[in-house]
Amino acid sequence: MALKIPAKLYEQLRQHGEATYPHECCGVLVGEFDASGGKVVKAAVICGNTRTDSLANRYHISPSELVHIQRDAMLVGLDIVGFYHSHPDHPARWSATDLAEAHWTGCSYVITSVEKGHAELTNSFLLQDQEEAKHFEDEPLEVIED
Ligand SMILES: [Zn+2]
Repeated sequence: MALKIPAKLYEQLRQHGEATYPHECCGVLVGEFDASGGKVVKAAVICGNTRTDSLANRYHISPSELVHIQRDAMLVGLDIVGFYHSHPDHPARWSATDLAEAHWTGCSYVITSVEKGHAELTNSFLLQDQEEAKHFEDEPLEVIED
């Protein structure tokens, strides 16, 4: 199983992290779950970062923004398959806060490290199991042709 993302969208989410540096960027990945449990991203929706207390190491997508994105996705037969955000001057690994704030089991959480304003690594993590037992697993990220 892997998260498949077209090259253009992959570049878009990495560039978003560069554009908001030294703050975190965030967005939602809309796409399809395929029969084997993998996911294909069809769109990356840029979200505003609504955290005002700590923009450099926190991200938050407002519930109303999320509801709109989900409704728009369902109208065209798609689903929310994941989320992305950046880590300014930090590794592309999930943090304890990222896990605590992740609630979409089966979705991908994509993190890009942005070092000195330049996007470096981008990794994907799959959220598994429900609340008390939830955890992230490394997930292959496959960049596909547009
Ligand atoms: Zn994070």
